[in-house]
Amino acid sequence: MSASEQDTELALFRDSVRRFVKERVAPFYEEWESAGIIPRETWRELGAAGMLGTDIPLEYGGVGADFRFSVVVQQEIARAGFLALACNITVHSDICAHYVLNAGTEEQKQRYLPKMVCGDCVGAIAMTEPGAGSDLQSIRASAQPDGEGWKINGAKTFITNGQHADLVITAAKTDLSAPGSKGISLLLVDADAPGFARGRNLEKLGLHAADTSELFYSDVRVGPQALLGGLNRGFAVLMNELPRERLGLSIGAVAHARGALDITVAYVKERHAFGQPLAAQQNTRYRLAEMAAAITVHERFLDSCIASLMRHELDSATASVAKLSCTELEDQVVDGCLQLFGGYGYMREYPISRFYADSRVQRIYGGTSEIMKELISRDVLK
Ligand SMILES: Cc1cc2nc3c(=O)[nH]c(=O)nc-3n(C[C@H](O)[C@H](O)[C@H](O)COP(=O)(O)OP(=O)(O)OC[C@H]3O[C@@H](n4cnc5c(N)ncnc54)[C@H](O)[C@@H]3O)c2cc1C
Repeated sequence: MSASEQDTELALFRDSVRRFVKERVAPFYEEWESAGIIPRETWRELGAAGMLGTDIPLEYGGVGADFRFSVVVQQEIARAGFLALACNITVHSDICAHYVLNAGTEEQKQRYLPKMVCGDCVGAIAMTEPGAGSDLQSIRASAQPDGEGWKINGAKTFITNGQHADLVITAAKTDLSAPGSKGISLLLVDADAPGFARGRNLEKLGLHAADTSELFYSDVRVGPQALLGGLNRGFAVLMNELPRERLGLSIGAVAHARGALDITVAYVKERHAFGQPLAAQQNTRYRLAEMAAAITVHERFLDSCIASLMRHELDSATASVAKLSCTELEDQVVDGCLQLFGGYGYMREYPISRFYADSRVQRIYGGTSEIMKELISRDVLK
């Protein structure tokens, strides 16, 4: 396919995602927020619309599109202000499916990927524990040898898609004597395994339509085929996937900021104060200009990161720069936009308040801003 045919395909796909968001997400989103979760059927609808695992190869049930198609899904959902759904999909498609694709055996790929692409199998990734978040090396969940397989014990928390998940990629210590990250492995745990239990759906400040859970493992037995990416190689797999994971979050962050600006521009043209629209006041115009400029610069930077990722050249330090800068930008823009709404911005019936509540966590999950600074500084000082 020529470059211009690919661009046409991409534009058509963007239209179809926009239509899906307008028709199948927007009318129901408040209901999903009240329920704290999206309906199971929506996962299948997303699958049928080609919005899950867009870049999974044909032999594993995907359409084999390139990464830009996955980007479009993130951008359109985040820009429309439905960040919780974007977050659900990022974890499922851009993290879990790619862990299986890139680190899985042929059997693991055949077993999970086709079902993940059509939305029959929802993925979650369980790293964080009550006592180990940023400091992942100190996780305590363990997987001890049990016959030919493993017996898992431990607890995880803050797990996105935790209530819906059918497949939970679980980080556990397989060598209790190995220091730091060395004895950690990843295991593919089916949610119907005896001994696996979900805790409650956690109540959050924002992202109300995303289910987030505690997970418990009590003598959960898995076979040898559950090991993903090799024994004690959990951190190596994680490191390989970090650039894509951080880029995905950055793309959602900047699109979310762009969406906040879109609705703010419309508002300041309508709302009057001191006999003129807010848009006529110098402070409003300058703030909008500053925010538009900052968003545009980040969009261009992300374009170059996307191109690097597609050439398999995006390094971890650059992905950390993107995660830090894009999520900090998102917070500043959303806060600045809310300010222009005045008191109405604080009211739940105005979508900018949802943008505000949802954006706050972006500087925390997927590696906090402070951890990004640690990683970037190591690269700067090397
Ligand atoms: C809505 C939501 C969804 C999530 N989804 C998932 C998921 O699907 N799977 C998953 O495994 N996890 C998930 N997480 C967990 C998330 O990745 C962690 O919350 C995050 O990594 C931070 O860990 P923590 O909460 O334990 O904070 P802590 O690690 O306790 O950090 C507390 C503070 O100390 C700072 N800090 C810690 N260490 C350092 C350091 N070395 N230098 C400087 N500052 C430091 C942090 O930056 C932070 O400001 C989710 C979290 C949330 C809130």
